[in-house]
Amino acid sequence: MSTLSTLSFELIGLVAQYLNFKDLICLSQCNKTLYGVQRIDQLWKGLCRMEFGIQYHDPNQSYKQLFYSCCMTVKGKGEYKRLPCNHVRDAAQERTITKLNQCQRCGVQGDENLFLCISDNCHQIMCDRHTRQHARLAHPYLHSVFYKMNTSELFCQVCVDWIGGLDSHPAEQYVASQITLQWVYHFKQDTSVLKTRKYRQIERQLRWKDTPQHIMKGDFCFISSDWMVEWEMFVEGWKTTRPSVLIDQTQLLSLVVGLNQEGTNPFYLHSNGSVMIISSQTWDYLSRHYNVKGKKITEDHLCPVENYSSIIQRISYWKKRALNYTR
Ligand SMILES: [Zn+2]
Ligand SMILES: [Zn+2]
Ligand SMILES: [Zn+2]
Repeated sequence: MSTLSTLSFELIGLVAQYLNFKDLICLSQCNKTLYGVQRIDQLWKGLCRMEFGIQYHDPNQSYKQLFYSCCMTVKGKGEYKRLPCNHVRDAAQERTITKLNQCQRCGVQGDENLFLCISDNCHQIMCDRHTRQHARLAHPYLHSVFYKMNTSELFCQVCVDWIGGLDSHPAEQYVASQITLQWVYHFKQDTSVLKTRKYRQIERQLRWKDTPQHIMKGDFCFISSDWMVEWEMFVEGWKTTRPSVLIDQTQLLSLVVGLNQEGTNPFYLHSNGSVMIISSQTWDYLSRHYNVKGKKITEDHLCPVENYSSIIQRISYWKKRALNYTR
């Protein structure tokens, strides 16, 4: 160690590039000079790439923070549900492609159905089905990130998730916003797509949070399934604009009775002309941002109880099942 200490700090830094995480920590424990080595963020940049395959970060955070945050995610103790996508590459190169309005494989048309492979020198435009085939069968791991035209978002077919969503790591959010912005400018898209994207990301987070367990643990209410179909189409990007139809609650109580059939799952889209159950938190957001006809309908409105006895029974069964699941 005394030999190592005679080297200049720069040289020690160069040597340390070859260390893995454990060895870097051991080295930095040796003395005061060597402790300074673990402050070199370039070393953490290398570790992020080596251990997690991540080649970007949020400029407001260090690579060291990113590395530790990833370690916590791997242990299942982090605040993010998955590691930042390591399939996305920031390719700031000249692009000469022109926007096509149909899948190059099957001819499906419409911006809401199309994705662009952002891998260098590929840039093929495909429908959902063909992106999956392209990413998983034809070029595993190499062509997995796609730009969705109408929503200005990235989808990774390996992570099977939208990239840069509100619940993803800030580094991923940063890189996704950089890349999507480049494409918005490249295609000369109207920048209002970015404002709509903000709404979509907030609403997608709400929609995905509403698992049966989450809904049944707190207060919940009923909502028209017809409206939820419209909303889901927007949230998942199959429609470009936000739903403009009213959330019509006026006939809802008569439809609630129909929920008592075996096999009906009111937490997920099941059929038109029916009812779904959402958390009060989601309702509060929706009623603030969309037009509602009628009022919020909760369990308390199921009266007289004899008229609703079987649906009340069913709700207590769902509650029990959801609470058992989380225990
Ligand atoms: Zn990915
Ligand atoms: Zn296709
Ligand atoms: Zn490709």
